[in-house]
Amino acid sequence: MTERLDNLCIVMVHTSHPGNIGSAARAMKTMGVKDLRLVLPNRFNSPETKALASGADDILDNARICDNLREALVDCHYVMATSARSERSLPWPQMNAREGGVHVAERLTSQKVALVFGRERTGLTNSELEHCHALVHIPMAFDFFSLNIAAAIQLLCYECRMAVLQTHPQIPPLGAEQELPATHEALEDFFEHLENTLIETRYLDPEHPRLLMRRMRRLFGRAAMTENEVSMLRGMLASFQGRKFQPRDA
Ligand code: SAH
Repeated sequence: MTERLDNLCIVMVHTSHPGNIGSAARAMKTMGVKDLRLVLPNRFNSPETKALASGADDILDNARICDNLREALVDCHYVMATSARSERSLPWPQMNAREGGVHVAERLTSQKVALVFGRERTGLTNSELEHCHALVHIPMAFDFFSLNIAAAIQLLCYECRMAVLQTHPQIPPLGAEQELPATHEALEDFFEHLENTLIETRYLDPEHPRLLMRRMRRLFGRAAMTENEVSMLRGMLASFQGRKFQPRDA
């Protein structure tokens, strides 16, 4: 059952303190989560990282260093961002850590899921949050205090582990008849194609884009599209452009 946690990855964005990366690796190891991805960490291989990892060296050795968030999420089907604040200006699906754990555990049977953690001082930007399907928040007694990032990772990995141990899978494992959900990469290519088409057809004014693409992301995020559905929509977009859709085309 806990092998489902192999489908969970932890993404840390622009982490400043190398010690936090070590503590995060230790937290992950204790919960059976192995896949760590680091987006442009400030310093990574310092003695502090290793000391605080306290034996979780395999997680550090296998950590993937990425140049941007998109690269870190390339093979993920479902992305959950973490936020130290419950109220954000962004009207995105939100849940608490316990609900988040259940949500993640259900998907882990057949999907690669990412939990994304922000910078120690400033968290994640709104545009980074928009790349995620939902936001998860650990409710705290005082909203003006924030949790240490490794503590937040510990807690969320614990909730995912408990939910994996306790819940029966709601989404059946992939069978021949079931279609694969779209990966983050396929969705990002789709949004790029959609934006280009909307500009070409003059529905979207690039000088005054307002919140259109954000709303599109929210709408299509709710649809949980499969790879085939994304291809179908891209075929439609290409036909509006008077072109033929070839996969990897935008
Ligand atoms: N001042 C920043 C705090 C960032 S804390 C802000 O308001 O966003 C660094 C990271 O730790 C956050 O980006 C998030 O990934 C995680 N984190 C801290 N507290 C959290 C909480 N209560 N719930 C979920 N994640 C939290």
